[in-house]
Amino acid sequence: MYLTLPPPLLPLKRCTELWFEDCGLIVRAEDTLFRISGAQLAAHSAVFADMRGLKQPEDAEHMDGCPVVRLPDPAGEVEVFFKALFDPGFFTEYPALTNYRTLEGILSLSHKYEVPVLKKRALIHLGNAFQHYNPSKPRLTPSSIGQRPLDVHVLPNIIALCHQIDAPWIFVPACYQYCQTASAADIVRGYTDMSGSNQVLAPDVQIALHSAKTRLHTEKMAEFMDFILADGAGIAKCHNLDGFHACPGIRGRFRSATDLAKGQRLPGQMSAYLATWKIKGICGPCRTALERGAVAAEAKLNKDIPSLFGFQDRDELEKRRIQALE
Ligand SMILES: [Zn+2]
Repeated sequence: MYLTLPPPLLPLKRCTELWFEDCGLIVRAEDTLFRISGAQLAAHSAVFADMRGLKQPEDAEHMDGCPVVRLPDPAGEVEVFFKALFDPGFFTEYPALTNYRTLEGILSLSHKYEVPVLKKRALIHLGNAFQHYNPSKPRLTPSSIGQRPLDVHVLPNIIALCHQIDAPWIFVPACYQYCQTASAADIVRGYTDMSGSNQVLAPDVQIALHSAKTRLHTEKMAEFMDFILADGAGIAKCHNLDGFHACPGIRGRFRSATDLAKGQRLPGQMSAYLATWKIKGICGPCRTALERGAVAAEAKLNKDIPSLFGFQDRDELEKRRIQALE
């Protein structure tokens, strides 16, 4: 016979910054209590307004004479979400500085509890950390998240959240950036949420990441590097066509060297590699042609990134961004 023990009682603590004695609603998340105004909460959130409309059962939980509402969300998320709702200076519009954990909690709960003003504000903050994302020159636009570059450990959190709340214009660049550093094992492992628990990415997101990573290392890498040997890449104007040190040989060895770098670098990281690669002895017209080819290859790659993650193109992402923020 097994004895079922009750779960251990957590010592409850009050969030002193969100404890208003003159307010009549106590909200509990994990072991943290918040005392706030139910009417104000309902005025901001459609979900809480509906909850308030429901008749409370006779035996509903009470504390200090106030009804207690338990939320299933991490206390850290609820804290920043309530601060954003009740403290006007806590989470102001972009480009005011914030931090990622605050942003994650506010975005997640403003979506869940339907507070459109906060959700849009959070999406603008997060979107600006990725806007005009260029794989070879990442994060040139100012980010209000206070991390530059954006910490790679939060990328899977951003991916999971933006997938859940349907924000593809942030989901795609976050996935692309994650593909550059994450191993297959990282993708499987997932991420740590705000309460410190391990979470796995949705199965379709895991598959999309594995598939994109593989395609970037193989076909996209080959397509990207094609400019080195492409017909018409300035070879007609070449000054140096004879002997072992002629341009065709230099190009061939250069192309082979980029193949050796395959598996370690993704196409978007190749531009930096090209810049450090000393193409000794190559003639002026060939060098110019290669430089132009690299720029065009990078533009083509940028254009193709959304399709790696199941979206048509950048225009589709931009359309979705405008729809969500209007
Ligand atoms: Zn040449």
